[in-house]
Amino acid sequence: MSKGLIFDIKKYAINDGPGIRITLFFKGCPLSCIWCHNPEGISEYQQKMYAASKCIGAIKCIEVCPEGALTLTPEGIVTDTERCTLCGKCALACPTKAIEMSGREYTTDELMKIIERETIFFDHSEGGVTFSGGEPLMHHQKLLELLDRCGQKQIHTVVDTALFAKTEIVLEVANQTNLFLVDLKAFDSEIHKRYTGVSNELILKNITVLADNGHDFIIRIPFIHGVNTDKETLEKEATFLSKLSWKRKEINLLLYHDIAKGKHQKLGTNFNREGLETPSNAEIELAKTIFFIGFMVPSILYSSNSMQTLRS
Ligand code: SF4
Ligand code: SF4
Repeated sequence: MSKGLIFDIKKYAINDGPGIRITLFFKGCPLSCIWCHNPEGISEYQQKMYAASKCIGAIKCIEVCPEGALTLTPEGIVTDTERCTLCGKCALACPTKAIEMSGREYTTDELMKIIERETIFFDHSEGGVTFSGGEPLMHHQKLLELLDRCGQKQIHTVVDTALFAKTEIVLEVANQTNLFLVDLKAFDSEIHKRYTGVSNELILKNITVLADNGHDFIIRIPFIHGVNTDKETLEKEATFLSKLSWKRKEINLLLYHDIAKGKHQKLGTNFNREGLETPSNAEIELAKTIFFIGFMVPSILYSSNSMQTLRS
């Protein structure tokens, strides 16, 4: 069974659902989108992250490493991954937090204590808790426990998901969730597979099932020049979405940007290997028009701190 590691807890989140929220990020995702803003959320296992820019060469990490896995080089500390057991001692010893461990196991009680400390903000803003990732549905047993406990406390719940999961799991989770944020990454299955690693038939089916069963959701489209900004794709998406029996009809366009660059450097992974670009104003305007024609309400999410609703 998945351990359901958490790699981040974000308080005072204002773009992860209504009101002021606390967002919990589960580690592990069955997709590997090349634009992922949280690349440390893709592996379900704990990972070591190293920021050379924060390293002062104090070599405390080298002194404490029981495996002799670390070496100081002109480029900074280098880890021998064959030797490293991910014990985390180097991260604890690092005085500048240049080394961090991503992913921690929490009990449901521990997470509920963290969530419940924020209820004053939920009460004043009609906010709540958002379960994100990674992919929270990958850890559905842990997620269901948390949703049940939040339901008992009448805490509003949002699940931020790519919906790449068995339909039975989606429906089981949906029965305990107030609102979903559902990613629609590419409409053409081959393009979807090329950029995320999986085809999208199951995702489209699950979106339809959510709508047919009256569950509430917002569609979120990572909007990326050259991937899904062309007229044909937008029209296909608008046609698919406008035919759903879906009351809310709300779409967030998440504009591509290079926020994940630093995280890739810390993980030692490849950033933006396909040279992705932010969409142009003309592409944004086109999307806005096409979704309006399909009777939907599009908004633009530039970054985690700024959303502009387009109603003109
Ligand atoms: S995580 Fe543990 S084994 Fe790995 S480099 Fe750090 S101290 Fe050494
Ligand atoms: S589905 Fe989300 S978390 Fe998973 S790889 Fe794609 S962007 Fe990242």
